[in-house]
Amino acid sequence: MGGFCGVVSNSDCVSDLFFGTDYHSHLGTHRGGMATLGPEGLFIRGIHNISNAPFRSKFDRELERFSGKVGIGVISDTDPQPLVMTSKLGTFAIVTVGLINNIEEIKQELFDKHNVQLQFSTTSGMVGPTEVVSALIATRPTIVEGVKYVQERVQGSCSMLILDDKGRLYAARDKYGRTPIVLGKKDGAMMVVQESCALANLGYEYVRDLGPGEMVEIIPEGVVQKIAPGDKMAICAFLWVYYGFPASSYEGRNVEMARYRCGGALARRYPAPADAACGIPDSGTSHALGFAHEAGIKYARPFVKYTPTWARSFMPQDQRTREHVAAMKLIPIAGLIKDKSLVFCDDSIVRGTQLGKQAERLYRDGCRETHMRIACPPLMYPCEFINFSRSKSVYDLITRRYVRGHEGEGADIEKYTNPESEEYAKMVEFIREKLNLTSLAFQTVDDLVKAIGLPKEKLCTYCWTGRDVSKEEEQK
Ligand code: SF4
Repeated sequence: MGGFCGVVSNSDCVSDLFFGTDYHSHLGTHRGGMATLGPEGLFIRGIHNISNAPFRSKFDRELERFSGKVGIGVISDTDPQPLVMTSKLGTFAIVTVGLINNIEEIKQELFDKHNVQLQFSTTSGMVGPTEVVSALIATRPTIVEGVKYVQERVQGSCSMLILDDKGRLYAARDKYGRTPIVLGKKDGAMMVVQESCALANLGYEYVRDLGPGEMVEIIPEGVVQKIAPGDKMAICAFLWVYYGFPASSYEGRNVEMARYRCGGALARRYPAPADAACGIPDSGTSHALGFAHEAGIKYARPFVKYTPTWARSFMPQDQRTREHVAAMKLIPIAGLIKDKSLVFCDDSIVRGTQLGKQAERLYRDGCRETHMRIACPPLMYPCEFINFSRSKSVYDLITRRYVRGHEGEGADIEKYTNPESEEYAKMVEFIREKLNLTSLAFQTVDDLVKAIGLPKEKLCTYCWTGRDVSKEEEQK
């Protein structure tokens, strides 16, 4: 995924920028970076590998190198950022978050159509999305025109912060607002973030969310709108289910509270005869609290996460390491498991491998019944719009492997998205049996939408429904 933070202030901004960026650490494990415009009008930049150590510990030692009243920072799951680019528009620093599906096509367009004599830097033969976006911006007469063009051309999504050599800080949200951008204010300073939880402890008050496709210039006193928001929004519903931080709110809807409501809805629609409700940490915890409250049963923690070294909820990219991490970080408490009937809440099922292993462990420790309640509907389509690493191919998904096994390739998937259909019921029963669970139920799309609290047409639910505003627009 990734996330970014920008600050513009009447005084030095480095401390706020550093901690504000750090509050996005749960969103990425690849690179962390910061750039400020120093007092001499030159950019000061640093990028670190954060795959083995947190952002804060990597930057602590070199923080005194940074100074300035305006800066941008990023936690990146893709390319090393921020980039500092020199172009006919001047020098600017840039960070991006999103997914560019047509990156090769755009690269070719830059070579062929815009007569750009470009050389892209590559490390593994792949050109970074931030570099391509910067080059695309530079084909237009101004930064604002350039950002407009990026939003027109990118298939997927691209939110960004740009800091130019005049000290102007711009924030632009992706065309359909898949990822959030939130503005905060304190006396003499403005902060722009993707995770609103960064604001409170740094003394900033929430001002507003940017609209889909909106671009603003941010000054210490407020914002100047550069591109008006579009009328269609499709913010990622998975923010509330899984990867958003519990203390954050997007479009005014808090993550933790949405998860409580999610758990409550599961308890109402799919009750379970259990002694206690339990969460698979981290995100399952708040869903389970909601379930326990609604069902009037105890909440228990039969799995405790070893937080001193497994603090981050995001997993490494490769499957083997991911499974190893999953097995190491959760420690069972036998006394809360033996002879108990437990209902577990988890955010989602991708491959089902980890959940199957956890169920095995529970039975080994003497668990009598393992009921599983999943906070979102069955995942049927891999995400095409943000850089979300739950699945790489369609057949990573246990659901799609089931459908292929029963109907072969090219089956009509829609009937499997309908909780009333026979096909849906058979698929859920197959997963329950495979994972050796006493019972299994998935949230419905409507209950999930209600728990989040935004109108359905403003949310992206593509990975469960296969329907999306960008596809509808393409068909017009
Ligand atoms: S497809 Fe799923 S993960 Fe991707 S933006 Fe939509 S809801 Fe989020």
